[in-house]
Amino acid sequence: MLFALAPAALAALTLIQQIDSTVPVERGQRLEVDLFAGDVDVKTWSKNAVRVVADPDGRGRVEIERSATSLSVRTTGRRGPPLSTDIELTVPAGLVGLATGHRVWERRDGDTVTSRWESSYPVNNYALSIAVGPYVPVEESYAGVDGTLPPRPIVFWSLPEDADKARVLWHQAPRMLAVLGKRFGEYPFLADKFAVAQSPHLGMEHQTLVAYGARFRDNPYNFDWLLVHETAHEWWGNAITVRDWADFWIHEGFAVYSEAVLVNDTLGVDKYLAYMRHVRGFVRNRLPIVRGRGR
Ligand SMILES: [Zn+2]
Repeated sequence: MLFALAPAALAALTLIQQIDSTVPVERGQRLEVDLFAGDVDVKTWSKNAVRVVADPDGRGRVEIERSATSLSVRTTGRRGPPLSTDIELTVPAGLVGLATGHRVWERRDGDTVTSRWESSYPVNNYALSIAVGPYVPVEESYAGVDGTLPPRPIVFWSLPEDADKARVLWHQAPRMLAVLGKRFGEYPFLADKFAVAQSPHLGMEHQTLVAYGARFRDNPYNFDWLLVHETAHEWWGNAITVRDWADFWIHEGFAVYSEAVLVNDTLGVDKYLAYMRHVRGFVRNRLPIVRGRGR
């Protein structure tokens, strides 16, 4: 789309989406360009003009500000995760295919099974997940922090050889969701699901499909550290995401604090204080936590 900008519109800060326009630059005027998304073509100086193009996908934005002595062009991309995702996954029949979001349909086609998964919420790119394996479902039921919601199954997708251990571990899942939900607000992705898939790596806070590769052993505070830590990231990291990686401590700091909250609400304040002393031992103060934004 091409259109001309009226000079009057440039007198004040102007926000324009999806533009492709040529803006005149007055003789002697200083041109400042900050480019974070889209394109800015500085044509030839003899034309005294700058061509501004924003992303056509609607994520780009251009701000143009004119004063007597300068013309400022600043482009910004809409930061943050995609607003929704959909995945179609085809796996050999006999394996289970899982993905972020909720399953919309599943279709068997000869030797394969295809399923479609859609997310009802924004998803950080790094929290998108696909898991495929000879999984068996280990189920518990969750009815919200007060037990008043319609019960819904929450599933630990276990490798067959670990199903007995997974069953014991998964008993703590409803209590974990209720404690975290009571403190920080209901589990944030209820319209999709809460599930865990056993993984060959230690773990990851994939949205609605936490990866678990630990050893099914509770710590001295009666909970599985990896399960609780990665689940806490559903609140701190997935539902609330930092704008800049410089503030990443919010994800990790609050995930660790969530562990302590669980201890407080299940074992009492003395154990909570002991747990906080325990995690404080990992704080070395060797580097600043926040070291420059926008990198
Ligand atoms: Zn973490």
